Amino acid sequence: MPNPLYDALFATLADRDSTLLRLQDGTEISGSAFYGQIARFAHGLRHLGVQPGDRVAVQIAKSPEALALYAATVSIGAVFLPLNTAYTAAELDYFIGNATPRVFLCDPAKADSLRALTDSHGANLLTLDARGEGSLMALSASQPSTFTASDCAPDALAAILYTSGTTGRSKGAMLTHDNLLSNAKTLAQLWRFDDTDILLHALPIFHTHGLFVASNVSLISGGQMIFLPSFDAETAIRLLPEATAMMGVPTFYTRLLDSPGLPEAAKHMRLFISGSAPLLAETHTAFEAQTGHRILERYGMTETNMNTSNPYEGERRAGTVGFPLPGVEIRLTSNGTEVAQGEVGMIEVRGPNVFAGYWQMPEKTAEELTADGWFLTGDLATQDADGYISIVGRAKDLIITGGYNVYPKELELLLDAVPGVLESAVIGLPHPDFGEAVFAVLSPRKGVTLDPAAVLAAVADSLARFKQPKAVVVVADLPRNTMGKVQKNLLRAEYAGWFKLG
Ligand code: AMP
Repeated sequence: MPNPLYDALFATLADRDSTLLRLQDGTEISGSAFYGQIARFAHGLRHLGVQPGDRVAVQIAKSPEALALYAATVSIGAVFLPLNTAYTAAELDYFIGNATPRVFLCDPAKADSLRALTDSHGANLLTLDARGEGSLMALSASQPSTFTASDCAPDALAAILYTSGTTGRSKGAMLTHDNLLSNAKTLAQLWRFDDTDILLHALPIFHTHGLFVASNVSLISGGQMIFLPSFDAETAIRLLPEATAMMGVPTFYTRLLDSPGLPEAAKHMRLFISGSAPLLAETHTAFEAQTGHRILERYGMTETNMNTSNPYEGERRAGTVGFPLPGVEIRLTSNGTEVAQGEVGMIEVRGPNVFAGYWQMPEKTAEELTADGWFLTGDLATQDADGYISIVGRAKDLIITGGYNVYPKELELLLDAVPGVLESAVIGLPHPDFGEAVFAVLSPRKGVTLDPAAVLAAVADSLARFKQPKAVVVVADLPRNTMGKVQKNLLRAEYAGWFKLG
């Protein structure tokens, strides 16, 4: 029996003398050298007793070795479980207790402080730092550079990724070999990746975007990656001339737009892709004006991999996430029934990309994944007459004020268009009369002082009275997580008492 991910993504690297990874300092790592590292880690993990199905949890810096460890883990039939490098010891206690990994890897600097915690959950603690050094490397260095992958079925687990958990506890999304492989194949084909592509990869690899969308698509196409530890605009502008494609979150693009040299650096590029958070139509337009490129926006999530994409050829429509991917079904529903075209509904997804459920949470799985395979995403959207899907927000961000539904996105689009406003976040806050009241948080463009009353007056004519914000505050920057998503939960907590409940 084969190993689906190993066979499609890693097996051919053994004979590849050409460059696979280019690093920030100019170092190049060939496919065969990278394969040797996969093999040594595979032997090392087996030596530690890691069996098919065991979890290998990591909280480590992005590095070529970290990517090789992902490859080694899935190649021996084990389950890769990357954790956000920002998580604290208290948060790790939950993840390690919940996932019970056989092995946990962290930076050597954290090992002493985490040993009691990993011991208490029966995990073997090893280390790997940003340069690839640490106890895992010491254990693996003298191992052979070839190995035999373990057989596993297409529905065997390859990874568990915890959702960011803005409401309640994080849930571990179980992703199978086939979930990841089917999505990588579909995206590579749709976006026309091949072995001549060089992908600028500046995303973290503890998240679906950097680990699966970016790395898997590049690996399955036989291309190269410029593999950077993190994003900074200056380095990206310096290295873009060596790349053919880039994948990023919207903040990468807004930072590039503020950087001198973008038009020249981007001239020869084949493709820019954005996802993980909404790309403002304004960013799309400004990027096209500077570079001539229309950013291709796509939509997905931890539980489902990618679901929709704007077309490669054909119109990439700003402010939309395009069409369902080939092989992926999408329907928009309200209270379980499909809505009419143009109406807002919750996105439901079915296809080979949809995960196998939440790790050890059968009730949560049953709430969000129907028996016939539809995943209820919690994202609200509309679909226009041409089939383009536009996301209007998360269901939990929907505001119900005095019995009326208000979709934050509708207001945010209007507020963002007011001169002087850089961006906005509209939330619902507890209110004594209305249940919830509409509340807007604005950030100004550089050098502008915003007058909240004037902003409100500017949008008043375009909005029914019940939709108009009851209050507006101005902040320097909206709070965002590492993937560039605005954290409305933090805003709701901060302003919770704004309208006195009497
Ligand atoms: P995560 O599981 O961290 O990848 O977050 C997934 C969520 O990010 C989705 O459910 C959407 O709410 C949001 N998201 C991802 N891509 C887009 C996009 N292109 N536009 C708007 N929201 C997006």
